[in-house]
Amino acid sequence: MNIDKTFQFDAIERFIRGTFNSNEFIPLHEPRFIGKEKQYLNECIDSTFVSSVGKFVERFEENIANYTGAKFAIATSNGTAALHISLLLSEVNEGDEVITQPLSFVATSNAIRYCNASPIFIDVDLDTMGLSPSALNTFLNENCQVVDSHCINNKTGKIIKACVPVHTFGHPCKIDQILNICQKWHISLVEDAAESLGSFYNNKHTGTFGKFGAVSFNGNKIITAGGGGCILTNDVKLAQKARHITTTSKIPHKWNYSHDSVGFNYRLPNINAALLLAQLEQIEKFCINKRKLATKYKFFFDSMEIIFFTEPNNSKSNYWLNAILLEGRLQRDNFLEATNNKGIMTRPIWTLMNNLEMYKDFQCGELKNSEWLQDRIVNIPSSVVI
Ligand SMILES: *Cc1c(COP(=O)(O)O)cnc(C)c1O
Repeated sequence: MNIDKTFQFDAIERFIRGTFNSNEFIPLHEPRFIGKEKQYLNECIDSTFVSSVGKFVERFEENIANYTGAKFAIATSNGTAALHISLLLSEVNEGDEVITQPLSFVATSNAIRYCNASPIFIDVDLDTMGLSPSALNTFLNENCQVVDSHCINNKTGKIIKACVPVHTFGHPCKIDQILNICQKWHISLVEDAAESLGSFYNNKHTGTFGKFGAVSFNGNKIITAGGGGCILTNDVKLAQKARHITTTSKIPHKWNYSHDSVGFNYRLPNINAALLLAQLEQIEKFCINKRKLATKYKFFFDSMEIIFFTEPNNSKSNYWLNAILLEGRLQRDNFLEATNNKGIMTRPIWTLMNNLEMYKDFQCGELKNSEWLQDRIVNIPSSVVI
């Protein structure tokens, strides 16, 4: 690969501009409002029910439950709130520990810290970029024991309450194996499915394997509510609790204002749900479009001898954010420099959590795959092509 040759960058630019049919700045991921968005927004405004009560929230929750196969869906103000509540309802409390991957958006670890719990960073697999079941197994076998149905970390004496794997860039991780390990060790499984609406593992939607799944509808995700999120669960009691605690724990009553715990104002406003309902109606269309784009990218980067990241085994990915693998940090930075200079937005994968100031002192397993990927992964423009 001779990535430093300018003619190749010209070829890359030509290909991407041709693909998106644009001579302007090409963003990494921009939303597409090409369905009934304006119609539903107008209906919502005309109804005056724009806040956290209204028929669009209900319709959205019903539709996303149907689409994902989850028994229940609770719409939230964003994906981080969905993760926070999922962890709280998994009884993650002050002093507990939660296993997650260092290769993720910062919100995953932040949600753990909001519960005053500590993250433990375990490595990812190279073929999924998601939590590695074998690294998880190794860590638990070397460091932990089950006492009275609790997983105790021998190094700290603390309880590992939950595990939060991420379906990175929409590619499903090996969630069935992770689930088995979590069950054996009495650890609650909360899936960070923020990026994976439309992604399936063994034909089952991501976010529906664990006790909870958290989805995000931030502006850059595959469908968006401007900001928004949702909790998926199959447990009726947990669903009721999630609905209650995200609605300031208000006891339903005709006129009384009474609350039975310190709740959260985490519900999705109806006006966002109106936008989101229209977006959700297009999810299958968006996934087909993105799969076509990924196929095109694969063919092109194969010809350049650059590795394009494809969906893992047993999976159907939504291809939310496409990624290529370069040869190392130098080549990665050259690529980032050249493409961004040409007005084509590309970016490296996130800085590993254990390298951030506020997360540097937490326990880690061996992180060689995460570090390897950190030096090589670059995300490339991935919007739905119109
Ligand atoms: C986007 C994202 C979140 C957070 O969602 P918000 O809606 O932005 O709060 C959490 N985890 C991952 C992996 C994400 O990509």
